[in-house]
Amino acid sequence: MPELPEVETTRRGLEPALIGQRVSHAIVRHRGMREPVPRALERKIAGARIHGVQRRAKYLLIVCDRGTLIVHLGMSGRLWLVDGHTAPATHDHFDLVLESGATVRLRDPRRFGLVLWQDPGAPTHRLLAHLGPEPFDEAFTGDYLYRQTRARSAAIKQVIMDGKLVVGIGNIYASEALFRAGINPKLAAGRVGRARYIALVEHIRATLEDAIRAGGSSLRDYVGSNGQAGYFQNEHLVYGRRGEPCRRCGALVKEFRQGQRSTFYCAGCQR
Ligand SMILES: [Zn+2]
Repeated sequence: MPELPEVETTRRGLEPALIGQRVSHAIVRHRGMREPVPRALERKIAGARIHGVQRRAKYLLIVCDRGTLIVHLGMSGRLWLVDGHTAPATHDHFDLVLESGATVRLRDPRRFGLVLWQDPGAPTHRLLAHLGPEPFDEAFTGDYLYRQTRARSAAIKQVIMDGKLVVGIGNIYASEALFRAGINPKLAAGRVGRARYIALVEHIRATLEDAIRAGGSSLRDYVGSNGQAGYFQNEHLVYGRRGEPCRRCGALVKEFRQGQRSTFYCAGCQR
């Protein structure tokens, strides 16, 4: 599943090619995404000028003079640039064709992704309205996490994956950041002290930055916007490494189920 680093990698790949470009037209081949692609989208976006490509949590926002195209990659989506003459494949459900002929193409075999439109001046889209801060926001600090978690008995890994508290920390990066911070993922969030949260925030940022630099983790069918596979999975310290020696202490990495997701950790390094 594309997580924040994969979405940010996509954003950085698309931005230079899209800014200042004018949209010729959009092609919707399958309206049945997680929510239906709005009927008016093709009419509204035709002729629009693209001002920027932004990211909020895992939503990509293609900001135009006439409104904003909102794209979410869901479980299996990939958004990348193709030459306008490239024939669409089975799961290529959406194209944004630029006047230059270049085309932004969405491939999403499982169709859990989203293609939505927001008119200019409209209130924040309901899907974006209740999101917590970005991990790179100034508002996201160790003190903030400490205060927000005092009454929480849920495990820290599940708490830092809660998008109302902070967005964009998915399963892989939660495991990796907790390992780097030396925090046991099963620990009740309310029992983790301020100093450990301050360290955790730094490790969350460093983990995400390393993953973005590597172009994301290429798991299953994810490929970045330039068609290159990310390689951060080669740098995972614990995720996907059950039974392999911990890179720090040599103990064997363990895996267990937490909220229906796999958590990987080292019992020697994480307390
Ligand atoms: Zn270890």
